[in-house]
Amino acid sequence: MLWTILSVLLAIAGLAFVAYRKVFPKKKKFTKTKLDAVVISGPAGVGKGTLIKKLMDSHPGKFGFSVSHTTRDPRPGEVDGVHYHFVTREKFESMIKNGEFLEHADVHGKMYGTSKAAVDKVRRSGAVCILEVDVKGAERLKSANFSCYFIFVRPPSFEVLRERMLKRGAESEDKIQTRLQTARQELDFIAEKGRTVYDKIMENDSLEVAYKSLEGALKLYGALTV
Ligand code: 5GP
Repeated sequence: MLWTILSVLLAIAGLAFVAYRKVFPKKKKFTKTKLDAVVISGPAGVGKGTLIKKLMDSHPGKFGFSVSHTTRDPRPGEVDGVHYHFVTREKFESMIKNGEFLEHADVHGKMYGTSKAAVDKVRRSGAVCILEVDVKGAERLKSANFSCYFIFVRPPSFEVLRERMLKRGAESEDKIQTRLQTARQELDFIAEKGRTVYDKIMENDSLEVAYKSLEGALKLYGALTV
């Protein structure tokens, strides 16, 4: 009799726990060893590069930037092998054929990709790998067997982004228009289903505030243990 009552109580407790977990799912927890990379996306001109640089400067040796391949031309001041590996479309296509990329995407008419070798190089150094990829690349990494913490940086508004891009003055008017079109698509994607890909969607209005938010999130997810 006692056993029957105990079994029924245990079964009820089990069912109650399952129901509780359904309503309050266990928070996704990354650990430093489990986390393969931190993925950062956001439209051109939103300040991703500045945030990444500040993160790396503030925590020397903790993070390593995965240098992507691209078929676009270098901008003044960009160094091959540092900012990107600048390659021809033929070379890029042969790398795709050889399965050298973890992900790759066409971003406003040019190819960009994260090679397995670039990520391995960072991970061998013991640092947490930072990947800067567009939303298509992030979606691909999401479905790959690769544990990442996904962050999207958005501007306070589309108008602010436009002003920032014009102020940067690094590109011609038609290139700016193409980038703005891509930015519009990315922001629409985020509004519609950003949460299905990104763990954190943050605004970059003030650099200091955005940086604190980024650093806080990385500490919380175990990518930063100081
Ligand atoms: P930019 O030409 O301004 O350096 O970069 C344009 C866009 O390409 C950025 O928004 C950036 O996120 C994306 N991007 C850079 N590297 C990669 C990559 O390896 N893979 C993918 N999918 N996108 C990338």
